[in-house]
Amino acid sequence: MVKRPNEKGSATRAVGPGDLSRTVPERVARRVWVAAGGRCTMCNRYLVDEEFTGQNVMVGQLAHIVGWSPSPGSPRGSDPLDVDQRNLADNLMLLCHDQHKVIDDKSLWDTYDTETLRSMKRKHEQRIRRVTALKEERKTTVLRVVGNLHGRPVELDDTRVITALLERDRFPDWTLRGADEFEVDLRAIPGEDPGTPHYWAAARAHLEDRLGYLRTQVRKGQVTHLSVFALARIPVLILLGTMLDETLPTELYPKRRDGSEGWGWSTDAAKAGFTFNQVRAGADNTQVAVMLSVSGTVDRTRLAGAISNSCTLYELTPEDVTPAPALISTASTLDRFSQTWRALLATIEIEHPGARNIAVFPAVPAAAAVSMGRHLMRVAHPPLRIFDRVQGFDTYQFTTSTASADEQKGDTR
Ligand SMILES: [Zn+2]
Repeated sequence: MVKRPNEKGSATRAVGPGDLSRTVPERVARRVWVAAGGRCTMCNRYLVDEEFTGQNVMVGQLAHIVGWSPSPGSPRGSDPLDVDQRNLADNLMLLCHDQHKVIDDKSLWDTYDTETLRSMKRKHEQRIRRVTALKEERKTTVLRVVGNLHGRPVELDDTRVITALLERDRFPDWTLRGADEFEVDLRAIPGEDPGTPHYWAAARAHLEDRLGYLRTQVRKGQVTHLSVFALARIPVLILLGTMLDETLPTELYPKRRDGSEGWGWSTDAAKAGFTFNQVRAGADNTQVAVMLSVSGTVDRTRLAGAISNSCTLYELTPEDVTPAPALISTASTLDRFSQTWRALLATIEIEHPGARNIAVFPAVPAAAAVSMGRHLMRVAHPPLRIFDRVQGFDTYQFTTSTASADEQKGDTR
């Protein structure tokens, strides 16, 4: 049998100073409990069961914002609010015992004045209403792909994920959470900085394993929408993009670059467009390289050790602005980048039909790297040979290729 709020007595009582209590009508009490989601307005503690013992005892208290009596001993009781109005839902808030004590402590009446408490009640009840309004179709499965960035581990706890999702009216499903802290945790793989062949191979194997699990969950109908929070070395993120299922609705959440540690797109940032040019025609039409100067500028003079002089070279850049780390801060800017990248791949497909691979030099933000991989079509486009800048030296080294292991065997250049 389900216990209703009034069965344990205290649920309809509003407790005042000296633990004197007043009974409020049941319909009023029910309204306050439901509007608060059964949680403390201040600390959000769940008050429908007692946390420590797990017993089914309602431990919340209805607290008067304006004290129920106009007498001097009543907290905020001197407020002009009509005494008849003081036992109504608008003047009651759900609190745990601890914070109820705090707001009614005489020395703190000025801190917890009526305006402050009303505002807390309003915000809490609005949040509860918004969160509980999310229906099943707003569920999204979280995929965090987290690595080190030149020796520094990326941090991304559940709270940041939940905050980012709520901004988009979504709530998280953690089906993909592994034995590690994250869905894909690459932080323990050795060799990230300087980027050894072992590192790229191990990172790829880990990604393939975890994304294989994702595909199984999609097949079973467990995953119907995906939210990707990815921050790792750029070559890893391009690989990730190639492994994401095109038919699964997917949203990318980038780390914000405004110092807030938050994740998600901004809506008010300046929007940029992109373009590409052939910057050098090579003698060998089957050899193609692409510089992506988006978050920074790829220095053409440093590519000599990585590609031959007979290679045709393209460059993708922002239009009218200089490359900068925060250039892609809105979802529509990422869309424009992706369109230009697809157009460039289509041009290479037409102009260089004999190309067996494309050497890429990406200076791009994380979300753009994932998109590069997502828009690469295995049937139409040659695989990418991904180069990365060597820290401390102005040279580029080969990292990994988007080709499958079999394709790579017959392709060393
Ligand atoms: Zn509390």
